[in-house]
Formats: sequence, C-alpha cells, structure tokens
Amino acid sequence: MSKAILLGIDGATLDLLLPWAEQGKLPNLSRVLAEGAHGTLSSTLPPYSAQAWVSMMTGKGPGKHGVLDFFEAGKGPGHHAFISSALINGEAIWDTLSRQGLKVGMVNVPLTYPPVAVKGYMVSGFMTPKGREDYTYPLELREEILGVTGQYDPDPWDLVDPAKDVATFERWMDIAEQAATYLHKQYPVDLYASVIQAIDQLQHSFWDALAVDSTQDTPQNQQVWSTIEACYARMDAAIGKRLQWLDSDTTLFLASDHGFQRADRWFHVNRWLAQRGYLSFATAERGMAPSLAARLGWTREGIKEWVRRMDPLGLRRLLGRFARASIADRLDDAIAMPIDWTQTTAYCGSRTSEGIFINLKGRDPQGIVEPGAQYEDLRTRIMGELVELIDPATGQTAVNGAYRREEVHSGQFVARMPDILLDFDDKPYLVSESTSVREVFEPIAAADIQGRHHSLGTFAAVGPHIAPGVVVRASIVDIAPTILYAMGQPIPDDMDGRVLEEVFTPQFRNAHHIRHEPAMGLVKSRSEASAYSQEEEESMLQRLRDLGYLS
Ligand SMILES: [Zn+2]
Repeated sequence: MSKAILLGIDGATLDLLLPWAEQGKLPNLSRVLAEGAHGTLSSTLPPYSAQAWVSMMTGKGPGKHGVLDFFEAGKGPGHHAFISSALINGEAIWDTLSRQGLKVGMVNVPLTYPPVAVKGYMVSGFMTPKGREDYTYPLELREEILGVTGQYDPDPWDLVDPAKDVATFERWMDIAEQAATYLHKQYPVDLYASVIQAIDQLQHSFWDALAVDSTQDTPQNQQVWSTIEACYARMDAAIGKRLQWLDSDTTLFLASDHGFQRADRWFHVNRWLAQRGYLSFATAERGMAPSLAARLGWTREGIKEWVRRMDPLGLRRLLGRFARASIADRLDDAIAMPIDWTQTTAYCGSRTSEGIFINLKGRDPQGIVEPGAQYEDLRTRIMGELVELIDPATGQTAVNGAYRREEVHSGQFVARMPDILLDFDDKPYLVSESTSVREVFEPIAAADIQGRHHSLGTFAAVGPHIAPGVVVRASIVDIAPTILYAMGQPIPDDMDGRVLEEVFTPQFRNAHHIRHEPAMGLVKSRSEASAYSQEEEESMLQRLRDLGYLS
C-alpha cells in the first residue's frame, strides 16, 4: 500500500531556504533538494493562511471551498463567526481518504478545529480556541499527548512573545514536534500530515533580520538571530526525521501555504478611494451610526446582509468588543465608519480580503452603482488607476496587479468576494481599511510587523517514486490530488488542482494511471452555530492583531 507523509511549513519561502540549503545550513533540506523534486507553489489570492491551507487540503480554490477569510462569509444573516473546519464546503483530503478506507493522521493542520471524525486521528492547529480540551479526534488522544509532552497547546501563540523572550519559539517547536513524532510512531496511518506553524510567526516578526545581508545587520537583528537559526535548525531536523520514516513505498511531501516578503508600508485603501472621489466621508464621527442608519432607512436585515457580504473581518473586530450586547446593537456600532454611503461608489472592507467592493445597487443596502455597464466601467477604471498608483515615498507603483474576482476564482462563493482583488507580490504593502487616517501611504513600525505573505510558497517531494532533480511549478490546489495519486487513489473530480505527474518516476507513472471518481460534495451537516464562544473569539482576534491582520 502506497503511503504519504506531508510536512507543512507555514510561510516557508524558497527565497530563504534555497540559499541556506546551498550554504549547508539546512542539511536535510539539501538532501530533499538533491534526491527529490522541488519548486515554487503558487498560493491563493490573497495569500492568507485560512483560505490557503484549506485549498491545500481540499484541492479546491476558495470559490469552491468557501473559506475566504479568517471569518465565515455568507452563511446567512446573523451568522458571523470565525471560520472553522465545520464550514469547509465539500470534502478535504482527510474525508476522501477515510471514505476510501485509508487511515489519516492530521497533526496541527490550520483550520482543523473542531477536529473531524476521520478514519485515524486529528489534532487541531492554528485557530484552535484557547483553553478548549476537545482539540483531538478521538477525544482521549489529548490526555495521551499531554502525558508525552507534559504540556501541549494546539495554538500556543500567547506563549510566544518575541519582545520578552524569543526562545519561546524554540520551546513551541519542540513540544509540537514531540507530539507529532509520538503520534507517527504510535499510530501508523496511510497519510500522515503535520504542520510547523512557528516559522510563519517568526517571519512576521523578524523578516528584517531574516532578509538582510550582513552589511545591513543591526544589533537588534543580531539579538534575534540565534533564535532564528535555532528555529530553522529545528525545521530541518523535522525534515530529517521524516526522511528516516520513508520506506520503499512512501513519498514525503513538503509544502508551505504561501511565501514571505518584506512589509514596511501601509496602503490605506479607503483614503485613496476618497482621494480619487470614489468614497465620501461623512462629516460627523463615531456615535452617529444608529441614527445614520435610521436616516438612510437601512433595515436591520439589510445591515446584516451587508455585513455578511462585505466585511467579515473589519466588522468582527468591532463586534467582538461588545460581547454582552445583542448582535443587532453590535452591528449598529460596527457601521460607525464615517462613510457617506450615498456618495460612495467603492470601498475596502477588511485588510485580509485585500480587495475593493463596488457599492452596488440591489446588493449593498445603500448601493448607488447600477449593475451592468456602470458597474463594469467603474471596476475597469478603478483597476486601471490602481495599477498606475505611485507611492510618493518610493516613486514606485504600489500594486502589482488588480483583477476582477471572476478572472481569478471560480465557484459558488465568488459572489461573496470583493469585486476587485489586489496583488501585492514583491510590493511591501499591507492593506488597511482604516478610515481615520490622513495619508494614503504610511510606514509600518518595525516593532509591529516586518513581513507579509507572498504568493509563491514552497513545494518539494522525495521518495522512491519521485524523479530526482525535477523542478516544478506547483499550485496550492495541486497538493491534494498529487498526494492521492502518490497513494494510488482516485481523485474526486471537483478538485481544481492537477496531479504533478512530472515529479514521479517513469516507472511509477507507467504503473499508475491517474484515476478520477465522482466528487461526494458535502460530507456532513454544517452547524449553524459558531464553533467558538465570545471569549474565544476575543482571544483569537487578539492573535490576529498580533499577526498584523487587524488594527
Ligand atoms: Zn500561513
């Protein structure tokens, strides 16, 4: 029986890994590169972890799996919740393999809370609420992990405070890997997948130190450098351990959900839209929202619908602050953005959506743009102005590209995405939806955040069936079908990705033809209730703030 091992490394980029491997700093990765296939992996647009990991695990784009942000979109009025495993539309690879009768072990994969009942086991990762004890399937597994590690936290972000003690990163990685290797040994499965999360956070916090050459090194960078080296050494050791687990019929895959790049400038999109005449600020400030809403004749349902569609992220930030208020009261507060909607044709909702909505008649509560030609003309004009937009501080364009959502994505959830999507590859900008700023562009303080995601992540494969030396251009949706192929399994026909056939040996390809099977669609009834309590949402919001995803 062909088996597979997946080691996910959140945020791993070849920009760092290839030179370090060449310099001999990552000997196990060097072995993978020498004996296996590797290449870039293009992520989702925007390249954020929630939608990206779900795309890797489902083989489908966000337009199909429905995870568009850290927050749920479009489950109907009143249902505004953090995204969770229960909201993934269609099968993920753990569902497919379980249905096909194979065992899976999923350890620390983001967006796997609540853990799914699989054939095998699952330990939730990133986005597991603080203090929850039900982060394993089966439930008893938690006690066992605690027995082995002494302490275990599926998402220990609050233990990691680089300002106080960068060494907490090393401890985090050690405990996670201790649990991961125990489970691999104790419970053999057909697909074993584990994810290293710490590298992503390390890069958000210390990109300046990671990316500079020695001539630009600062004392602060040198201070964190030993921790950075120790963490990448741990990552490399984890790769080495998995190389040891290989046998004559097992393939090892390495994959990241996106790459990384420098971020040192805010792009306040709503301020820019105002400057261009697309967005108009109301004269009064906060506190006027309920009366404004009343004056505009917005119905409560209309407001909820607008929130549902427009801005899961930015508004949830405000919603969470008012834990004891009713959902409707929170929504009133949430629309306290001083925007005059009667004079606004376009707006930016949330920073992690990295896009612009048109204020469309018939869709937005106070939409003023006619669908059809007026909508299309406006989109085209704004996109044209975006790609020509120059940051005066650099003299360079700020945006790499601007796309109509349907040019990039397909599927039933495209209708909930921003009308225009922005591409910031190789550009050091973080989108901000803030309306209380004066400038379009502002520097980001290095103490706050230094790195952002880049669309090009990392892919590698090694094992007896992998052809050495092949360089491949993978897409994040190719990982699931390629793993299924390596395991000799049929591929559900709703997957968007392709089998990366070229990385396999001619012998394997001759003996294994790609087989498809009808997709099974939804695998379980979806809970309408949030998987998280209000306090848990608050705590997770703080985490997103720490990562720079929220102001
Ligand atoms: Zn990530």
